[in-house]
Amino acid sequence: MRPWSLIAVLPLVLMFLAPPAAAQPRPPFAIGGRTVPAGSRVDLDLAVPAGATDGATRVPVTVFHGAQPGPVLALTAGVHGFEFVPILAGQRLLTRIDLATLRGTVLLVRLAHVEAFEQRAVYVNPFDRRNLNRMFPGKADGTQAERIAWTITSEVIRRCDLHVELHGGDGAEWMEAFAGPYGGPLAEAQYAQSRVMALAFGIRNVIKYEMKTQAQVDNGRSLNRQAVADGKPTVLVEIGQNGQRDEASIATLARGLENLLRTLQMTPGTPTPPRADTRWFGDSAEATATNTGIFTPVATTGRAVKKGDLIGTVTDYAGKEIERIVSPVDGYIMYGLAGPPVRAGEAVVTIGIPAATPR
Ligand SMILES: [Zn+2]
Repeated sequence: MRPWSLIAVLPLVLMFLAPPAAAQPRPPFAIGGRTVPAGSRVDLDLAVPAGATDGATRVPVTVFHGAQPGPVLALTAGVHGFEFVPILAGQRLLTRIDLATLRGTVLLVRLAHVEAFEQRAVYVNPFDRRNLNRMFPGKADGTQAERIAWTITSEVIRRCDLHVELHGGDGAEWMEAFAGPYGGPLAEAQYAQSRVMALAFGIRNVIKYEMKTQAQVDNGRSLNRQAVADGKPTVLVEIGQNGQRDEASIATLARGLENLLRTLQMTPGTPTPPRADTRWFGDSAEATATNTGIFTPVATTGRAVKKGDLIGTVTDYAGKEIERIVSPVDGYIMYGLAGPPVRAGEAVVTIGIPAATPR
């Protein structure tokens, strides 16, 4: 071959040797002072340093950073350490993500509240006695619950594009599962995506959480509302009850998470479409106890109620009935207090108000 002809074909040869622009390696994912190369998985602990009144802790996370581009999906389990179904479904997901085909990044918070889990603390942090799920965005120099919140806000929520918060019935709560996409005036721009994500779980009850006022987002801010405040499409999933490790619920949630990944086209395969019998709720109401004592619910399963229907009774410790709690609305009871303890002012059931049309 003469020199001039080599020069003529060189651009063509280089075109095949050099990867096209779209196949450039994906940048690494930065979290907790680490960088995760594209196409790899890292299990790490986000450090929560000691505070003035309580000790250091950690937030165990797993990053699956796919080689191919796509969204960063944050899944958070264990904000309430006695809600075991989400924690165990997350464990199951760890073996079900194939890095060879993953598009985008899955950021799994395996156990947001290690101290509550290990000490079997229902609702609250065992040191500061605060509900982590009312502490967001948290504080770098606050109590332990505030510092955990701050770590999750800064390292997880502000690094993700989409958020799914996983809860269930805590130690004293029965529950029928539901999924809750966030919408309303303050989250409407994200709602189309949130709705798709919520329906991917295949859970029959769906509550559209309408964020109408800034106070609703800010007061006692939960982790999911932190994601709403940061402008992420957000879904709350609640499944499992009474602090049990219930296999059927764990399997349902693990299947839902895998279907979510397919629905978002982050993993290959045809997603299962949304179910046709979805029950849509547009708002919720509560029935509340006005006395402290022993609560006996009429039933501990999801069910339709009419305004005035008996929800349960409260007796004092001498066995005398001191209160009959009735439903304040027509609706569908989604979850409630199993009892027996009840304190004055506590909600004993949450009642979904059916939406007139699919939302
Ligand atoms: Zn919870």
